[in-house]
Amino acid sequence: TVVLGIETSCDETGVGLVRGGVLLGDALSSSMSEHARFGGVVPEIAARAHVSALVPCVRAALDDAGLTLHDVEAVAVTAGPGLATALHVGVAAAKAYAQVLGVPLYAVHHLAGHAAADTLAHGDLPARSVVLIVSGGHTSLLLVRDLVRDPVIHLSDTMDDAAGEAFDKVARILNLPYPGGPAIDRAARDGDPAAVPFPRPLTGPNDPVLGFSFSGLKTAVARHVEAAEAAGQDLWVPDVAASFQEAVADTLTRKAIAACRTHDVETLVVVGGVAANSRVRALAEERCTEAGIELRVPPPRLCTDNGAMIAAVGDLLVRAGARSSEPHLSVSPSVELDWAQLDPAAEAE
Ligand code: ATP
Ligand code: MG
Ligand code: FE
Repeated sequence: TVVLGIETSCDETGVGLVRGGVLLGDALSSSMSEHARFGGVVPEIAARAHVSALVPCVRAALDDAGLTLHDVEAVAVTAGPGLATALHVGVAAAKAYAQVLGVPLYAVHHLAGHAAADTLAHGDLPARSVVLIVSGGHTSLLLVRDLVRDPVIHLSDTMDDAAGEAFDKVARILNLPYPGGPAIDRAARDGDPAAVPFPRPLTGPNDPVLGFSFSGLKTAVARHVEAAEAAGQDLWVPDVAASFQEAVADTLTRKAIAACRTHDVETLVVVGGVAANSRVRALAEERCTEAGIELRVPPPRLCTDNGAMIAAVGDLLVRAGARSSEPHLSVSPSVELDWAQLDPAAEAE
């Protein structure tokens, strides 16, 4: 079954085509540069950009796969969480495609998409895995059995900021361009990760072992910058970027490995935009090897938002024999990840 996946939850219009766990083609259009001067995503601008980009992206993905619209046998779309106005564009388009083609429609949870992205790179997930989702809006450790047949179990969520949000805010403090994650990753290459001893949040003896918190770390960076300015010292931004990045990578990987140990799981999957970070990837690799844990991280372009990952969930749902979504389907801007499929009617059964 050829599944068309559509993603419009934030500022990327993503379209992907997947069949039997294999990525056939994809296309991506980002409105990121239009938001840069505002320092963050402006929902109305994102929605307008999706309206312009969506149909051309569907064409480009089909071209990439060497297929036509009539080869599409199912449609999957992100129905939440995300910006409501942005989600509406994708959901309305997906419904129209499914209706006109006479094929089933599957409403998908965006974070299940991030997790499923890895299946396109490394095949089906094992029977049990710990999934670390580190993105712009979420930082969670999950226990995943069958991604589409079983509910996802939350082991921990961040108590305040998400890891990606911390990258974006620290970049602003350091006058680095938006989006902050890639900018800090680049700046850190010329810096010393041991230059500034930033705190490792929630790693004390009385702290929750799997808990995350990033707002204090962000404040520590701000204080460091203020103190340097007050003392009239020149700030070498790469050192601060590298030290901050090291604190995040250290904390994330420690806790992810602790989750694997606590729950006796042999596979760690790291996904979401921050999984594209070079230091997070390298340290996860190093520590998983040490701990005898199998590490799976998708290639960077499948870590950040894309349509292929949504098609991947649709493909898993088709193969699991899931019921298609109802025509009255709407968006769920702030839904928790319990089930990969977002369909109240199907869940109620
Ligand atoms: P969510 O998935 O939680 O709804 P989102 O879709 O906006 O949020 P993603 O697209 O998964 O998030 O990731 C975007 C985030 O990833 C941004 O915060 C961005 O700064 C961060 N990011 C992207 N590349 C890197 C990198 N190389 N290093 C660190 N962070 C990065
Ligand atoms: Mg984005
Ligand atoms: Fe995302």
